[in-house]
Amino acid sequence: MGLNVSPDTALVLFSGGQDSTVCLGWALQRFARVETVGFDYGQRHRVELEVRPRILAEMKSLDAGWAARLGNDHVLPLQTLGAVSETALTRDTEIAMAEHGLPNTFVPGRNLVFLAFAGALAYRRGARRLVAGMCETDYSGYPDCRDDTIKAMQLALSLGMDRRIVIDTPLMWIDKAGTFALAEDIGGKKFLDIVIAETHSCYLGDRSRRHDWGYGCGECPACRLRAEGYARFVGRREKRD
Ligand code: ZN
Repeated sequence: MGLNVSPDTALVLFSGGQDSTVCLGWALQRFARVETVGFDYGQRHRVELEVRPRILAEMKSLDAGWAARLGNDHVLPLQTLGAVSETALTRDTEIAMAEHGLPNTFVPGRNLVFLAFAGALAYRRGARRLVAGMCETDYSGYPDCRDDTIKAMQLALSLGMDRRIVIDTPLMWIDKAGTFALAEDIGGKKFLDIVIAETHSCYLGDRSRRHDWGYGCGECPACRLRAEGYARFVGRREKRD
C-alpha cells in the first residue's frame, strides 16, 4: 500500500488513539521513512501507551511496504505537563463542562508542547515532516487543535530551528465518520479492523467492554464521539453501496 512515495522522513505524533493511528497509515502511504513519537504526561487513559506497540506490530504485519518504512518509536516523558494541568484527563475527577465553555478534559496548550518536542526530535532525526491528528471538525473546541494554531506552530518551528518543517494534519477538515472512511481507503478492511479493535479513545481507560466501534466505557465524551462517528460511517457506507 503506497502512493508515489516521497523521499522525506516523517515523524508521526502517535498516541495509540484512532486518529493518530489513521494518520500513521496516511504517512506510511506517502513517506519513505516514518518514525513515531508518543508522550507520557500522566494521562488517566495510560492504556493508550500500552496499546501502541501492538498497533505498530499489527500495521507491520499488514503490509511489507509499511514494515519496511516504519522506523523507530519514541516515547517522551512529559510528567511536567500533567503537574501543571488541573484537568479531568490527568486528575481523578468527573468529566464536565468548565466555566470557560471547554470540557475539563482540556489540558491547556497540550498540543503546543507536543509539537515543540516533536519538532526538536524531528530535527535530530532528520525528519522534515510532522504528521498529527488535530481536527477542527468535531472536536470539543480545543483551541490548540485549530488549523490557525497548527499553521502558527509550523512557522514558529521552521523559524526557531532555521529549517523547513511541515506539519501535515490529514484529519483537519473531516469528521469522525470520515476518519473511519479514510482508514478503509488507506488500508482496506484489515486496517479498519486494526483501528477499531486495537486503538484506544476512552478517557477512563476502559478496555473491558467491546462495542462495534471498539473498546471503551461507552459513556465518556471520547467514547460517545467515537460511537457516533462509527454509526455515521456505517450509515454513509450503506447509502453508498
Ligand atoms: Zn469512555
